[in-house]
Amino acid sequence: MKIVHNFNAGPCVLPKDAINAGIEALKDFKGSGMSVIEISHRTKDWESTMAETVALFRELLNIPDNYKVLFVGGGASTQFMAVPFNLLENKAAYLETGVWAKKAFAEAKLLYGDKAVKVASSADLNFTYIPKGYEIPKDADYFHITTNNTIYGTEIHTDMDSPVTLVADMSSDIMSRPIDVSKYGLIYGGAQKNVGTAGVTFIIVREDILGKVSRVIPTMVDYRTHIKEDSMFNTPPVFPILIMNETLKWVKAQGGVASMYKKNVEKAALLYNEIDRNPLFVGTAAKEDRSLMNICFVMNKGHEDKEEAFMAFAKERGMVGIKGHRSVGGFRASTYNACPIESVQALVACMQEFEKAV
Ligand SMILES: *Cc1c(COP(=O)(O)O)cnc(C)c1O
Repeated sequence: MKIVHNFNAGPCVLPKDAINAGIEALKDFKGSGMSVIEISHRTKDWESTMAETVALFRELLNIPDNYKVLFVGGGASTQFMAVPFNLLENKAAYLETGVWAKKAFAEAKLLYGDKAVKVASSADLNFTYIPKGYEIPKDADYFHITTNNTIYGTEIHTDMDSPVTLVADMSSDIMSRPIDVSKYGLIYGGAQKNVGTAGVTFIIVREDILGKVSRVIPTMVDYRTHIKEDSMFNTPPVFPILIMNETLKWVKAQGGVASMYKKNVEKAALLYNEIDRNPLFVGTAAKEDRSLMNICFVMNKGHEDKEEAFMAFAKERGMVGIKGHRSVGGFRASTYNACPIESVQALVACMQEFEKAV
């Protein structure tokens, strides 16, 4: 197989072990003589995989007993709607830190108009920083944040204190660092960045925040439906859950989330140091808010004309997925859990070679 350094932003690089286990389960699930996609989800073999995946999620993130872990379909984008449906009665507060945060806020506004309020935004500087010094309204039903801004490469590095229920979209940094789940009321995300493949969405929810709104909630959107049926109210996305199961096993075998964090810090430092050292490049995110997962940079002033040349140079050396999102331009290297340090070293070497070549 062709050797590449996969820096895709999502879907993205996954542990080879997880992919190989997935191929095996597609051929013969647990020695049943049938594929995992050919069996009923109401079988012991599947139920044990489902239960094991929940248990791994709980163990790796140290999730307290009063929280439920749910796996549903629809992507993180469906949660932009499900969150206000389940939690917004009088007011919801949103932090606007990028495209996904904007979409989450827009959905709450679409449903409940002025009851959705924007507390702070970094749109003034094209989302290159995380707003600080804002006040979370104490009368809000919840405060919604996006912990990692996949497109702009900024990240909220700590589990913040919030006077109201904290809701976090952790699509692109879940399992990248240890978190204190007890600081949050609800955490959700699509699996396809750090914990698996598209098709399954994880939800971690503290049960006591539910059942407080006066409206009728459609069955599939009501978190209580999925709590009651252990995420098996309807057919769960079995294959994406299986890939998530294998990805989590891999995280555990690597030493867990603390060990992932250590490696992520190391990888990010390597690349940010080169961006800061190499006169050809410049980082786009404010230094204190730099993401450990999505590293954005552009050509430095006076070198803008070399962008295409560097892209071609990097491509020749096996770099994949380093084109920045169109709203930022330049380059973005996503260094998720499964991205090996060797890939980051190869990209750094490529930047150094390019510097010598031009
Ligand atoms: C990718 C991404 C999403 C969208 O996820 P879908 O599962 O495709 O709906 C939402 N939020 C963040 C932070 C993301 O990175």
